Formats: sequence, structure tokens, C-alpha cells
Amino acid sequence: MSRKPIIAGNWKMNKTAKESREFIEKVKSAIPANDLVDSVVGAPAIFLEAITEAVQDTDLQVAAQNCFWEDEGAFTGENSPKTLSALGVDYVIIGHSERRQYFHETDEEVNKKAHAIFRNGMKPIICCGETLETYEAGKAKEFVGQQVSAALKELTEGQVQSLVIAYEPIWAIGTGKSATKDDAQTMCQAIRQVIAENYNKEVADQVRIQYGGSVKPENIAEYLACPDVDGALVGGASLQADSFLSLLEAVK
Ligand code: 13P
Repeated sequence: MSRKPIIAGNWKMNKTAKESREFIEKVKSAIPANDLVDSVVGAPAIFLEAITEAVQDTDLQVAAQNCFWEDEGAFTGENSPKTLSALGVDYVIIGHSERRQYFHETDEEVNKKAHAIFRNGMKPIICCGETLETYEAGKAKEFVGQQVSAALKELTEGQVQSLVIAYEPIWAIGTGKSATKDDAQTMCQAIRQVIAENYNKEVADQVRIQYGGSVKPENIAEYLACPDVDGALVGGASLQADSFLSLLEAVK
């Protein structure tokens, strides 16, 4: 089964508009061809209009870092999936552990957002991952399996095939303490197994599953070599243009 790798930078709440423009100018013409890898930049919502315009004729794709589950209405401060889609946004990252921790986002909300993203013609990058405590208790597979099943509730086979899952153990995010390649492979394989149980093997074989957590140019190749790891979701090491390009180069 060959799945095209997807490498996505998640800028989180970083960069000024000027820094964002400079980054995009630097990388947009230097990224590898999209038959090799899907290259994605996940930027704060306030930059998405400028970025989608700037990358229009390039292979660089764009992700939002969150959205609301309704298309429009009286929801002060939220970002509409309909609006994101109209800008030309390709993916929306949902269920990131920082949103679950600081903004109390629940599995049920992640599922509602996934439906809203598909309804508006985009694709979700659904994050999952366990705490250090759960990992040390040997309950990571069970915990993450439940997160994934809840996030996918009532999505069609076709939708599930086209979405992306990012396995990001919380203890590896921004800590410099990345998961071993064996841990990453074991968990990504377990996630694929859960999808096979909830849907079927054909669907599970299509789903792209990323590893995230202290990925950098020096270690990304180890993860990409794992059979069930189809790319990476990268925070810190995606912020500098040179570093982001090095991550993409690792696919070759
Ligand atoms: P770091 O790559 O900075 O560990 O962040 C990972 C992450 O949370 C990406 O979504």
C-alpha cells in the first residue's frame, strides 16, 4: 500500500504578518513536487487570506489550526469552516492537544468539526495522543483508540479514506523528547487497526497517519521509514523556512 506522505507545519500562535509573508515567499517556489509529498503550512487564521492568495499557483497547501462546527451565525470570535473553504484552505487541524487542554475541546466537538470540515469541502487533520501518565500506565493504545473512534463517528467510508490523523503523544510535544520510531510505528499501526475495525481494511489502508512531537530535520527520516507512519505534523521545526524545507526534502 503506498500512501503519499503529508508533511504539515503547525505554526501554532507564532509569527507576525510580515514574518508570515517572508516565510511563504521563501518556501513557495522551493517545495518538492506534489506527486512526491503533500506540503502543508498550518497558519493562524488571521494570515490565511494572504497565504492562500500567495500560494495559488504553487504546490504548497494551507491548513487552518481550528474552526467552529457551524457554518455561520452568532458565535463571536469563532472561525467559520465555510469562510475558510471560500479562502481556499485545504485542511483544518482539529483536536490538537493544546486545544483539548487549554480550551477544553471534547471528542464530541472534534467529531462535529470533522463533519463541518467535510461539509465545506476541506479535509480534517485529526489530532490524538496520550499524556505521559497514560503512556506509562500502558494505556496509550486504548486511550488513543477511543479518541479516534469518537472523532470519526458517522463519517462515511469515503470521508475517512481522505482524512489525515496526527498521532501526537502529549509528552513529546515541544519537549525535545520525541517518541522512538518503534513507539510511533506501534501507535500508528494501532490507529489503523481501529479504523479497520470501525470501517474495513481497504479504508484503513488509505488513511494517512502522521507522527508529531519534537520532529525535526535530524529525525524525520526515521519516522518516514516506518510502514504505518505517512508523514509528520511539526511545530517548532516548521517555523523557519530552511528547517521546513529540510523536513520536506527528507521525503526524497
Ligand atoms: P513540536 O514539533 O514543537 O513538538 O510540536 C508538535 C505539535 O504539536 C504539532 O502539532
